[in-house]
Amino acid sequence: MLTKVIQQANIDKVAKYFERAEKLVIVTHVSPDGDALGSSLGLAHFLETQEKTVNVIVPNAFPDFLRWMPGAKDIIRYDKYSEFADKLIAEADVICCLDFNALSRIDAVAKPVAESQGRKVMIDHHLNPEGFSRVTISHPEISSTSELVFRLICRMGYFEDITLECAQCIYTGMMTDTGGFTYNSNNREIYFIISELLSKGIDKDDIYRKVFNTYSEGRLRLMGYVLYEKMQVFPQFRTALIWLTAEEQGKFQYVKGDTEGFVNMPLQMKNICFSVFLREDTEKNMIKVSLRSVGTFPCNKVAAEFFNGGGHLNASGGEFYGKMEDAIEVFKQALVKYEDLLLKN
Ligand code: 5GP
Ligand code: MN
Repeated sequence: MLTKVIQQANIDKVAKYFERAEKLVIVTHVSPDGDALGSSLGLAHFLETQEKTVNVIVPNAFPDFLRWMPGAKDIIRYDKYSEFADKLIAEADVICCLDFNALSRIDAVAKPVAESQGRKVMIDHHLNPEGFSRVTISHPEISSTSELVFRLICRMGYFEDITLECAQCIYTGMMTDTGGFTYNSNNREIYFIISELLSKGIDKDDIYRKVFNTYSEGRLRLMGYVLYEKMQVFPQFRTALIWLTAEEQGKFQYVKGDTEGFVNMPLQMKNICFSVFLREDTEKNMIKVSLRSVGTFPCNKVAAEFFNGGGHLNASGGEFYGKMEDAIEVFKQALVKYEDLLLKN
């Protein structure tokens, strides 16, 4: 049995909205990850079983290793088909906003969503939800939005209607947002849910391979390069930094997503509890900052204070507009400021 995480009033409202709606749209955050797509496609599969018209709209491209997901080929990219998407959003009775807490996280999709008369339902697990939705299901204590989608479907009384495809998507989101159940994954109910998903016929080992074992040669070599040449360890701060210039990315035929997970690697070292990855992003003309921590060290505070960002306690991100040297300087200032917390952790 699962604890009733989502408030009953919210379950009732969403059930009513879904029941009355004919056309629904699901939107998720920019550069969608496994949980963004898993929760969106999982919910879409469920709504299809209820004979609803449902479209999933994403702001931009998603990684190749998620392309196998059931329903992925029907996803509408806003950066390619904005006119069509605008129409769907304007005409939607309900707009489900999954895996993001603020309209700014959906980039150009924010405007049509804000302007639409459709009832907005947020289902998310990031801190501090913005109040743009009629119903806000926000649970930062839950490790993935996909898990929240599972809980919502079950609480509405539709466990039986979860198909294999729906279960595969939900599992993918739960797995990716916990690094294959290696962090944020001590809640035992996660494993109860996995057991329920297995009863739908998912092959969890196959999903793991499809998501995690699909590296290109360039990515694997780039990984070797950054670990050997570009990782600086600051043992006195229990911290490690990796930085990557545009030129270096070019040398390894970098494609989007190739550095996914790099920021987690230094945390495999004993006594390291904070890791930062800086990547020059020529497309957006900035330095993308990824931060990770273990234990109680709040890397989201560092992201907010030094890199115009935010996120979760142990996984956050931000942006730096300026030169790489300056970003590294700012990073060093952050270490000095947070020294006490780093050492206490
Ligand atoms: P990643 O390092 O995987 O890109 O991002 C990890 C987490 O940090 C995301 O799930 C999101 O919560 C947060 N995050 C990443 N980039 C940004 C950003 O630019 N601004 C804010 N507010 N949060 C971010
Ligand atoms: Mn998520």
